[in-house]
Amino acid sequence: MKTLRLVLGDQLSRSVSALQGLDSAKDVVLLLEVQAETTYVRHHKQKIVLVLAAMRHFAAALRAEGIRVDYVQLDDPANTGTFSGELRRALARHKAGCVVATEAGEWRVQEMMQAWSAELGLPVEIRADDRFLCSRAEFAAWAAGRKSLRMELFYREMRRKTGWLMNADQPEGGEWNYDAENRKALPKHIAIPPLKRFVPDAITRAVMELVAQRFAGHFGDVEPFGWAVTRADALKALQHFRTKCLPKFGDYEDAMNSSADYLFHSVLSPYINIGLLSPQEVCTAALAAYKAGTAPLAAVEGFVRQILGWREYMRGIYWLDMPAYARTNFLKARRALPDFYWTGETNMQCLRETIGATRRNAYAHHIQRLMLTGNFALLAGIAPAQVEDWYLSVYADAFEWVELPNTHGMALHADGGRLGSKPYAASGAYIDRMSNYCAGCAFSPKIKLGPKACPFNYLYWYFLIVNAEKLKPNPRMALPYGTLARMPAENKQQIITEAEAFLDGLETGYK
Ligand SMILES: Cc1cc2nc3c(=O)[nH]c(=O)nc-3n(C[C@H](O)[C@H](O)[C@H](O)COP(=O)(O)OP(=O)(O)OC[C@H]3O[C@@H](n4cnc5c(N)ncnc54)[C@H](O)[C@@H]3O)c2cc1C
Ligand code: SF4
Repeated sequence: MKTLRLVLGDQLSRSVSALQGLDSAKDVVLLLEVQAETTYVRHHKQKIVLVLAAMRHFAAALRAEGIRVDYVQLDDPANTGTFSGELRRALARHKAGCVVATEAGEWRVQEMMQAWSAELGLPVEIRADDRFLCSRAEFAAWAAGRKSLRMELFYREMRRKTGWLMNADQPEGGEWNYDAENRKALPKHIAIPPLKRFVPDAITRAVMELVAQRFAGHFGDVEPFGWAVTRADALKALQHFRTKCLPKFGDYEDAMNSSADYLFHSVLSPYINIGLLSPQEVCTAALAAYKAGTAPLAAVEGFVRQILGWREYMRGIYWLDMPAYARTNFLKARRALPDFYWTGETNMQCLRETIGATRRNAYAHHIQRLMLTGNFALLAGIAPAQVEDWYLSVYADAFEWVELPNTHGMALHADGGRLGSKPYAASGAYIDRMSNYCAGCAFSPKIKLGPKACPFNYLYWYFLIVNAEKLKPNPRMALPYGTLARMPAENKQQIITEAEAFLDGLETGYK
């Protein structure tokens, strides 16, 4: 029987389950560019180019193997604009007897897929996505009956399961986690390797033109576009990271710098998330560098933890708790997302620089996402759904299964601590310690109140004051609440007055 094998834009791996057992004499591989997926949030232009250009290159590689590919382009006049509409049209074209697909990464699309068999009146086989290091069932089994789902415990299980950085049942070097060594501030004269970029070919250029015309109102700049859109180039980016950045990845993992957008980060998340690289091979490359003595243990452990630990854990939480997870709002945050998240027009230098870099690059590294844009949204009480739409739009690597738990849980504490034991809230002192932003800012991190005071300072204490009922009982918040208790009442009152004036001005003013 002829089978349609559907491959989605974030499933561009030759080994993806939808392609397993493919009969190239009969089967047709279907790839669909649809308007609904490009516009359900205002995705960064580079993100749309990345996905569509990588899909077109993937289709070309399959054809070169002699596989029949049916590829529907966004600008095909007959394109209905939705997966369901295009699947129906493709079935009529090919007279296929069944559809084979890999489960979607997002709840919304997975729901849609589950309705297809009944809607189309033919078998639709939805296979598990086996490109992760922990299956959804395995994660659910690990979580079952546990009171606390801390990432660190999950990560240790995954270390034991894979045997990575293990000596029998003991962690390599005696510690599970070398984070304490990974928090250095960036020295002044350190050489930072330039990011590995790729010159767009004719296929990618055509997509860039299409996106520039069709999505002009979306966030971000389309040029310069230097992302890898083929597996071969993504492998070159991995090799570049392994040799040039990994040795210092750990040391400066938490640092931020206004003249270095990428520091020693891998910038591999878009490639892993759309399937050009596998999490397994990326970790294996880092482990090989450790074995060869070209990268220290703290860097390699730190890197492996991000993928084997955090990435898998976030996916596990997403599928365990959706769809209810997205609806929680523990801190009852309701304020509208300020316009400067889209324009970058704010006097707060750290946010202006980070949002500016995000517009240019469709990228910000983890600490910028967590401790700048995330921290500000947390302190200012921005409604989680609005913050999540922003995060889902602005980064090339943003897919809901990984974006949502990071934003909703880790950055906003909207899940009430399901994922993180305390909110990642910080004042200007932290940002000043970890970056060089404050030197050029209109505000000072050392001033607590008044027109020159860093807004992160009074917002931090205001956040603790207004959320005291919910956060004070948390033993991990004992220290800041102890300090707050010792603060003179008139200081607290001034903090409230200044923070509320600032927040009221957010909706209209230039801050
Ligand atoms: C509010 C917020 C939103 C985020 N949204 C996304 C998102 O939409 N997509 C996304 O892939 N990551 C997201 N992250 C996680 C992390 O910030 C990015 O994976 C990372 O910055 C990507 O850059 P990199 O490849 O240079 O990462 P590196 O610092 O080089 O880390 C190596 C790899 O580890 C993985 N990783 C690291 N941290 C995490 C994490 N917390 N969760 C999952 N994987 C992780 C990524 O695959 C990354 O490529 C978010 C984090 C926060 C705080
Ligand atoms: S002073 Fe405050 S607002 Fe300005 S850059 Fe520093 S942390 Fe950001």
